Amino acid sequence: MAWDFQTEPEFQEQLDWMEEFVRSEIWPLETLMHELEWDALMRAMEPLQEQVRERGLWAAHLDPELGGQGFGQVKLGLMHEILGTSPIAPFAFGNAAPDSGNSEILALAGTPEQKDRYLHPLLAGDLKSAFSMTEPENAGSDPTTMSTTAVKDGDSWVINGHKWFSSNASIADFLIVMAVTDPDAHKYQRASMFVVDTDTPGVDIVRDVPTMEHPQENFGRYGNHAEIVYRDVRVPADALLGAQGAGFLIAQQRLYPGRIHHCMRWLGVSKRAFDMLCERALSREVQGKPLAEKQTVQNWIADSAAGMQAARLMTLHAAWVMDTQGVRAARKPISLIKFYGAEVLCDVVDRALQIHGSLGYSTDMPLEAMYRYARGARFYDGPDEVHRESVARHILRGYEPREVPSEHLPTRRAEARERFAHLLEAVTSND
Ligand SMILES: Cc1cc2nc3c(=O)[nH]c(=O)nc-3n(C[C@H](O)[C@H](O)[C@H](O)COP(=O)(O)OP(=O)(O)OC[C@H]3O[C@@H](n4cnc5c(N)ncnc54)[C@H](O)[C@@H]3O)c2cc1C
Repeated sequence: MAWDFQTEPEFQEQLDWMEEFVRSEIWPLETLMHELEWDALMRAMEPLQEQVRERGLWAAHLDPELGGQGFGQVKLGLMHEILGTSPIAPFAFGNAAPDSGNSEILALAGTPEQKDRYLHPLLAGDLKSAFSMTEPENAGSDPTTMSTTAVKDGDSWVINGHKWFSSNASIADFLIVMAVTDPDAHKYQRASMFVVDTDTPGVDIVRDVPTMEHPQENFGRYGNHAEIVYRDVRVPADALLGAQGAGFLIAQQRLYPGRIHHCMRWLGVSKRAFDMLCERALSREVQGKPLAEKQTVQNWIADSAAGMQAARLMTLHAAWVMDTQGVRAARKPISLIKFYGAEVLCDVVDRALQIHGSLGYSTDMPLEAMYRYARGARFYDGPDEVHRESVARHILRGYEPREVPSEHLPTRRAEARERFAHLLEAVTSND
């Protein structure tokens, strides 16, 4: 029997250290996020990053030969649950999105030259990156419809297209761009990835798109989502990342573990909101009694605890499948947690906000920001509907259509009568 819900003691010690470190060193800094210039915030992070390196927890998503820890998804998941409690904690640990995912792509598909030029400086924090796939004119949920092209011209590729929601592009040094290189190939083999320096002529970062999370334009700050026009952007042949036509294959390798990390980070956010919910339930009185005595509030607490526990076990299970059986086997469990985890996050944050009344709605509490952040979880890395569809498709593969339902009682009874005729006869003859 190999069911085990325990974390090995040495790693639990690391998790305990992380939890205390994030709470005491990073949560306070988080309150100054909007007062400090980005560079100043990053300078404040430097001594913290040093401590993380000393603990052997830096860039843990990568293999040891790249300066990471090669932890695997279960341990990474447990780490991300703690880092998720603060939007800036991942910077202290060298695994902030989208640089972490982009470093995984470079590690997976980059040539030795690309690793030297982009991956190592990215890991050292000397470069920033963005991933540029979604287009305003085409459904991001079905990226096979993308229309950005890269056409071979002598020793170069020439890229033309229009992207948006390229997170962090306005502070990035380079972009990983998905473009159609083989229009006549199978739909999953039409696109390729390119590494494009942001200052290449023809790369026009039009604006940062203000969002629910960042309603004010955020140009040049972390967390922006840029709109970009690629106009005759000429890059050398060695800008191709991985094999020609392998864009979707590489994207999948990046997105699957990324979804596990998102889901565990969401649990960190949910837990923080849940703590606020419980604290307020005990502290605020209505009609002479604490809110905690109202059944609705008790239901919120119980439902939130159940949802978080279910999402946590489902996510760790998906991580375990990924570690033990690989990406292919993990596809269904990962789709399952992507929409379920996003739903739990939105519900828990909403209840925590609701119990705080006008205080929750105000910017005196972090809940309104969590609420705006949470809503995006239902879109990025695939909207809920796409993941539900994918789960249903996987599940239905295990079934076959039947004219008569296999549980149809009259049919089953007739079969049983035939099979057990001797028993029925014996019963009748005993009568
Ligand atoms: C915060 C945030 C960060 C992002 N960062 C990046 C990034 O760094 N790089 C990047 O390239 N992109 C990024 N994106 C874009 C993201 O990947 C897309 O928003 C996502 O893939 C959905 O694409 P779309 O927005 O074009 O929506 P559409 O594809 O137009 O879908 C719209 C809606 O249609 C419905 N729908 C879609 N498919 C189905 C279906 N099969 N069945 C039923 N209903 C369906 C859903 O309700 C869906 O929400 C980011 C998005 C957000 C919100």
